[in-house]
This record gives sequence, C-alpha cells and structure tokens, in this order.
Amino acid sequence: MGKVMLIGAGPGDAQLLTVKGLAALQKADVIVYDRLVEKAMLQERKASCKLIYVGKEPLHHPIPQEEIEQILVREAATNELVVRLKAGDPYVFGRGGEEGETLYKAGIPFEVIPGITSAIGGLAYAGIPVTHRDFASSFHVITGHLKKGRDPLDWEALARLEGTLVFLMGMTNLPNICANLLANGQKPETGVAIVQWASRGKQLTVTGNLQTIEQKVAESGISSPALIVVGEVVSLRPQLNFFEEMPLFHTKVLLPRARAGKSKLAEQIRDLGGEVTMYPNIQVLDVTPTKTKQELCETREIIFTSKEAVERFFNYLATLHLDIRTLKNTHLTAIGKQTKEALSEKGIVPDSFIQRRSAELILEHLARFQKNSSNLIIGSVVDTAEVGAILSNVKAIEMMPLYDLRPVTERPFDLESFEQICFSSSRSVQNLLDVLTTEEKAILKTKTILSIGRFTSATLQSFGINDFEEADSATPESLIELIQKTKLEGVPQ
Ligand code: SAH
Repeated sequence: MGKVMLIGAGPGDAQLLTVKGLAALQKADVIVYDRLVEKAMLQERKASCKLIYVGKEPLHHPIPQEEIEQILVREAATNELVVRLKAGDPYVFGRGGEEGETLYKAGIPFEVIPGITSAIGGLAYAGIPVTHRDFASSFHVITGHLKKGRDPLDWEALARLEGTLVFLMGMTNLPNICANLLANGQKPETGVAIVQWASRGKQLTVTGNLQTIEQKVAESGISSPALIVVGEVVSLRPQLNFFEEMPLFHTKVLLPRARAGKSKLAEQIRDLGGEVTMYPNIQVLDVTPTKTKQELCETREIIFTSKEAVERFFNYLATLHLDIRTLKNTHLTAIGKQTKEALSEKGIVPDSFIQRRSAELILEHLARFQKNSSNLIIGSVVDTAEVGAILSNVKAIEMMPLYDLRPVTERPFDLESFEQICFSSSRSVQNLLDVLTTEEKAILKTKTILSIGRFTSATLQSFGINDFEEADSATPESLIELIQKTKLEGVPQ
C-alpha cells in the first residue's frame, strides 16, 4: 500500500510551491488536483505519473467530496505515492482535513505539506500586508460561501474586530458582506480590495471602500476566484504593489520548446513579472543502447553531443558493470560547453572539444583525428540522425542514440490567450508547428511573433510566417528586450 501526501500548491504562481512540495510532486505516481492549481506545476511530474483532475468544470457539477476521497483511497492501494494537490494551503477551506480523516480511517499513511494560502500570499501580491503595526494587529480568514437562509457568521463580532478581514469564496456574496459589516457599525470608508487570480500573470485588483466596492466590481467585471479584503491595510497598496508594477506584468508569453528541462528564458520572463507557458513541452524518452560491453571497449573514440547523452552513457556503463577506467584508451570528445561541463562533473577532462553540434565541425575534427578508427557518436535520436545523415559516407563512424525528445501536447490548449509567441530556436518553430491544428496556425499568425535570430526567422518563413520581429542579437537577453519593447508598443495597458 502507498502513501498519500496532501500538498498545498500555493496561491497560483507555480514558483510559490514549497521546495518539499516540489520534491514530492516529482516523485508522485498519481497526482489528484483541483481547478485552482496552476497547471504549469504539473509539468514537474515524471513521465509515468497519472493525472486525475477533480476540479469543477464550468457548467458541470463538481465531483462530490466523498468521491474525491474514494479516489485517494483507491489510488493509494495500487500506487506508492499519491499526491493530492490543492490550491493555497490544504487546510484553509480546502477540505483537506476531511481527506486526512478518510485516509486515517482507511489506514492509509498520509503526510501534509503546507502551502502558502491565498489569504496571505495572494494579498501580498496585490501589495496588501495582512497585518501592519499601524493598521491591523490581527487578521481573520472567513468563508464567504454562505448557505441560503442560514448565516453562520456573527456579523456583530466581525464588525467589531479591528483586524483585517479576508473573505474567501465570497464574490457572489459581496453585497451581503458589505451590507452586514455596515449594518453592524463598520465605517463606510473602511478600505476594501478585491484580488482575482492573485499571484498569476492575469491578476486583477480593484479597490474601494465598503460603500463603493460593489459599484467598482460591477464596472470592472472582476469576479471569482477572488479574495475580498476589508481593512485599513488596503491603503498601503500604492507603496507595496511590487507585482503589478513589474515590466512584464500582464504579458502572457508562449514559449515553444526545443529541449527538455529548465528554460533560462522562461525564468527571466517570470522574473520580470511575465507569465510563461511552455508548449509543446519536451519529454525525454530513453532509447535502449545498441552496443555491447565488448563493442564499447573496442571503440577508439566516443563523441558526446549533449549533457543528457553523458548522463545516460554513465547510467549505461553502470548497468554493464563497467568502470569508466576500462575505457582509458578511448578518446572522449565533447560537443558544446554544457557537454564538457557534464563530463567534468564525472571527473573527466575530454580529450577533444568541438564547439557546436554541426556536422561540418565534427567532420573537420574527424579529418584531423583518427578518421579510420571506430568512432561512436552518442546523443539524442535527432542529433545522431542529423549528424549521421551528413556523415553517412564516413564508414568508421557509428551512431548510438540514447534518448529521444518528443513534444508532449496536452489539450485543451488556448492559443488565443497568448499575447506573444516567442521562438528561441529553429527547432522550437518546428516543434510548435508540428502540433498545431490548421485553425491554430491561423490564430498564430494574428499574434506578436518574436524570433531570436536569423536561423529561427528563416525557419518561420519556411512555414509561411513572415510577420514577426527579430531580436537584435541572437541572445536570450536581446529576446527579452524585444518582448518588453513589443509589449509597450502593441498592448493596451
Ligand atoms: N486552500 C485555499 C483556499 C481554497 S477555497 C487557500 O489556502 O488559498 C477557494 C477560494 O480561495 C476561492 O474561491 C478564492 O476566494 C480563494 N483563492 C484561492 N486562490 C486564489 C487566487 N489565486 N486568487 C484569488 N483568490 C484565490
């Protein structure tokens, strides 16, 4: 029998998941998640992890709580680690306690990894500190989801509190909340803020007071999911509003990927307050090596095309019970700086170094060096196929792909919601266009399209996309500048 972990996903921004929560997510065999959980977080799961969505779809009934609990019990019976991922903190109006009780009754071990609740962290992202020495010495988190005809809240007591009041799930009841607080003696000028989608790129905030907020909400169209904050701390927003003032706030960028793993560019966009979606995502699939122990030992040179190839090669050696010292007469060559670094992490200084993954450079290297001995090129399926095609007439060279990179496409995918599509390599163009439908391709052409440099631009043109902007120099920094520039020019604030 497995274990269940109740994990708080934080208020929205995927980066606000705790370090412990992330580690559990990466190990999970099953993830059971809600509507308010940021989907980007799920990309951290391992390839074999099963996803179960239990959130409410618009126009559909939510999955009853008992059923969710039964799913947890059922999955724990056949999986080692089941993660129950809930928005904010699992014990703040998340019914996490009930899930824990059911697991306890079923004798299933469980753990809780707390999360940053939207009631505190969400406010911070709107520039509102939940307490402040001058304005509020306590805070109260209250459900605004009040059943008809039965109001469990003691409004008299709430109105008397000097602290900050934070209502969750309260948007449909906003008029009631304001009316009750006013009727019980709260001052009409008491500050009120509504924060929708707190800490996400699409965060919206509206402020007013107990008398004006209803009107302002109606005018702005702001709605659920939102936090309602009542208290003087709202007045600090102009000074503490770090998030909404960021250069790329409200900019939604689609970043098609060429490689798996972390993206520095995505990180930089997020650091500037932008919202990034990587699509399609790239999944690494292992390929079974073709060489035997004997054949490996007889290879004169091994050329690594990537750091992933280095990692997989060493895993392969381990499965063969081979020590790298057995290959002490084999010439080891790295292509690219990262590959060289990956080798040096294994304590190996490569005998040769090739700057880039270009067949010409590899050919040049081989011409200079032992062209007639047996050479083995190790990399991804794409790398080895590309290099192999050009080197097909050089007999002594063999390819051994150790992994494949496949675009992962998870629909539904709303291309319309992006403002900018940012291509950072030719392969990223290919990866995206390979998975788009005809309609989506038409939508793509209506968006601000950015290219990192001339090779990427040429690939865009080969797909019939001619309306795009190219970065000044082919660097991520230059691309970031272009994102900012095109945002200022093209998008209404
Ligand atoms: N456990 C969650 C709350 C779940 S109840 C937590 O600790 O944050 C769901 C309510 O939380 C929503 O109706 C909304 O009022 C609030 N909420 C959660 N995330 C939010 C966000 N990012 N922005 C605004 N409100 C949010």
